[in-house]
Amino acid sequence: MLNSFFKDKFPFCYDYFSTLLNLVKNNQRDFPQGIIFEGSDTKTQYLFTLELARILNCDNYLNPNCDCINCRWIKSYTHPGVNIVSQIHFKGEDDDTKTIISVKQALLIENTLSLSSDYHRFFIFFSSKEKQNFNQDYSDFKTLGYDDNISYAIEPLNNQTFHPTTLNALLKSVEEPPKKTTFVFLTKSKEDILSTIVSRCLVFKLASNKNASGFYNRGIFEDYLNLTFENAFDFSQKLKDCAINQQKDSSEILDEFLLYLKELLKNNIKNDDSYNKILNDVKIVSYSIKQLNANMSDKNTLDTMALRLVRGY
Ligand SMILES: [Zn+2]
Repeated sequence: MLNSFFKDKFPFCYDYFSTLLNLVKNNQRDFPQGIIFEGSDTKTQYLFTLELARILNCDNYLNPNCDCINCRWIKSYTHPGVNIVSQIHFKGEDDDTKTIISVKQALLIENTLSLSSDYHRFFIFFSSKEKQNFNQDYSDFKTLGYDDNISYAIEPLNNQTFHPTTLNALLKSVEEPPKKTTFVFLTKSKEDILSTIVSRCLVFKLASNKNASGFYNRGIFEDYLNLTFENAFDFSQKLKDCAINQQKDSSEILDEFLLYLKELLKNNIKNDDSYNKILNDVKIVSYSIKQLNANMSDKNTLDTMALRLVRGY
């Protein structure tokens, strides 16, 4: 079954997929044909997807340390039915594109699916390139028994590399795949994917709810580092969505955001400019919490806060 490693990381998806996998394994339900994972941690989305593929293909799935041929293949990224699709993976011989996921790849998938297979086939889409340095941390892969010597980057899809033309060419395969076929798209946000595909997929937020340092919603708080006037309202909307999805008050989300800022402050103690900016932002967020506690409207307070964080006052 799903490794309890994911229980802390993605509590909702852990419960959901544990239940679903049990039903699928007992032939009581089909596994979804299309899944979109949203969130900022693409690496862990990938690991989660590999584990889904592994359990679906393993004959001894109740044993978390199973070492059958399917498990071994997946943990070394050589399983014949589990395919990565990116700018540098799953390319045909006649395909010389290197910076996009091409229409030729969509057609290659269609051809592949026309052949029968005993495996539960996966096509896992993300953005990739050959890595220049190998210092990225893949220790979580190692913990789960995977080869951690990964020579490519694992990044979210975007509409430059994953062009609408390709998505349209892929539509038929995603819509009517043979049985036991699953398409998985790893994204930061489903907005980066054509809506016609989105409507044919189940969408799950795989945002890290909880992280090693113990607070929630880190993935969303990290957007604060790239805050501009253009995306300020997206940021406030995301904070509001967090509150709704997690059935919390907006002020509770801001309490957590404040903890995040205080941690940033600690990490920037030697950098005067950043330190002063974050210190000022701590004041802005504290003020917004007071406003929320005084029953000011959530939307206005969060929007104003986001703008003030960009402006600095
Ligand atoms: Zn196995």
